[in-house]
Amino acid sequence: MADEKEDVDSIVDDVMTSLGDEVSRDQVKKKLQTFLDYGVPLDQARQAVLKKFGAGSAPAGLTTKKLAEVQPGDRRLQVTGKIVAIEKWDVEVRGEQRTIFRGLIGDDTEVLPFTAWKDFGLQSGDVVTLKNAYANEWSGQARLNISEWTEVSPAEVSIQLAERTPQRFKVIDLRPGLSNVEVKGKVLSLEEREVTVDGDSKKVYTGLLGDPSGKIQYNAWHDFGLQENEVIQVSGAYTKSWRGTPQLVFDERATVKKLDEKIATEDIAQRPVSLYKVVEGGGGVDIIMEGSVIEIQSGSGLIERCPQCNRAIRDGICVIDGEVTGQPDLRIKAVVDDGTGAVTAILDREMTEQMMEKTMEDYRRLAREQGEEAVDREIQQRLMAHPIRVTGNALADDYGVTVIVRDATLIMPDIAAESQRLLEELEVTE
Ligand SMILES: [Zn+2]
Repeated sequence: MADEKEDVDSIVDDVMTSLGDEVSRDQVKKKLQTFLDYGVPLDQARQAVLKKFGAGSAPAGLTTKKLAEVQPGDRRLQVTGKIVAIEKWDVEVRGEQRTIFRGLIGDDTEVLPFTAWKDFGLQSGDVVTLKNAYANEWSGQARLNISEWTEVSPAEVSIQLAERTPQRFKVIDLRPGLSNVEVKGKVLSLEEREVTVDGDSKKVYTGLLGDPSGKIQYNAWHDFGLQENEVIQVSGAYTKSWRGTPQLVFDERATVKKLDEKIATEDIAQRPVSLYKVVEGGGGVDIIMEGSVIEIQSGSGLIERCPQCNRAIRDGICVIDGEVTGQPDLRIKAVVDDGTGAVTAILDREMTEQMMEKTMEDYRRLAREQGEEAVDREIQQRLMAHPIRVTGNALADDYGVTVIVRDATLIMPDIAAESQRLLEELEVTE
């Protein structure tokens, strides 16, 4: 009996490789079981299920393609490529926590993004053949999917990665998952670190790169002789997500040109960024954002923190440390919306005091006299629907973008400038 059960599962596996995502494993298994229950022999049942779910017309074998030929919607692909980059992601799929891997795979024709739906032990630099992969569309290009039904095996070939015309980006438009990026910017900071990669000690140069549109963290895995304050053009870089913000990565395959140009520090990232860009761009470093406060989230106002782990606690109980004596704190969690997108801005005690023009002690007194609702009411009244400008690091996760606010101001309508503008308008029309 156990044998038959295993047979059923392996047949379902086999059948699944011939079918698209539209058909669930459960459907296939149920149908196959029905045929078997009626006494249909295994092999015939297999054929019947394949026919039933429309795989009869699908090509029997795999289609071997070069990466440049891969199109969104391609199935049963066989490709050989080199893993250029790979990183682990924790995602939620239909309410279930899963670990997947995203990265870039390249051959001599193209470098494509990929998603591996389980851990195949892939490492950067591995050359592998994928049998039965499929492609979907992502950001206007094909993305390879390495699924449970894909056979991954090492390939004994050397791959000269495709030389492609790099795509030019402004710093603010760099989002995680891009390859062959070209970007120009000023080295705002530079730090040399020693790290261990696969047992080897390597030097990495990190810091911030900026242009008038924004700033980004970079990681250079090669000594390009970078200097602070110089303007460089990097070609052949790629991007990934690092601690909730995009990161620019370049190694010895990239080229770094030192430009005889200056970008004044006061011209870097001085203008507010539309919030859809912040959200779609996967967060960012030191961004200026403007919008209206559309919600003050619960957990704003006077709160208590655990003295051991600093988590916000409720009724003197920390989820980690149990019963503790809470430390008072003040904060605001405000949803800021500019009509194109929304972020959650977290204002710490100092920022909250600055915004509200009151101290935490003022609010503790108010809470003792009139209850904590009085504090919440004041925050609501001052901020709700009010335009605000916040600056800080925008961190992206599956739930959205959270801004750790470093500076915040309420935007007051500039009455003098407005009347001047109206006067000028009148003069022009006269
Ligand atoms: Zn705690």
